[in-house]
Amino acid sequence: MTESLNNLCHAPLHPQAAHGLRLFNAGEYFEAHEALEDAWNAEPGKVRELYRGILQIAVVYLHITRRNYNGAVKVYFRSQRWVRDWPDICRGIHVEELRRNAEAAIREVRRLGIERIAEFDNSLLKPVVWDEKQVEKKKYICDRCGHEMYEKNCKVTCPNCGNRFDCSDLNIYFD
Ligand SMILES: [Zn+2]
Repeated sequence: MTESLNNLCHAPLHPQAAHGLRLFNAGEYFEAHEALEDAWNAEPGKVRELYRGILQIAVVYLHITRRNYNGAVKVYFRSQRWVRDWPDICRGIHVEELRRNAEAAIREVRRLGIERIAEFDNSLLKPVVWDEKQVEKKKYICDRCGHEMYEKNCKVTCPNCGNRFDCSDLNIYFD
């Protein structure tokens, strides 16, 4: 494992990637794929390849739930180049565990074969283990004075001019 990949892995997780992982773990594989694709597009660094790999595993799981044998096997092999080289844990994501889980799922798919894929046990589609605390905090810029604002317990405050809002109002500011 190269030093540079290790360094990349200690940085925070993109909020859109975190959103994708929550959808993945809710079994919403199509929506997870879309959110992770947004993270892939938004991320200029090499870690975008990890997001791409996880989005492809979401697609593999989607194919499995739809009993699409060929789709699952094809996308699984395509995903490997994007997920295989990362450290065991990267940006709080337990990548090695995800690799092992996906491999176990695809091994079962191949054991069943195209004829019997309907018998696949969906409990083999395990959630991704990841650390919510490693998600990048959104930066808030005060719309009155341009100073950076701070968020605590859902209260966002400007230390310069005292402007405040509640995070439940965030859609007004960021959509
Ligand atoms: Zn301000």
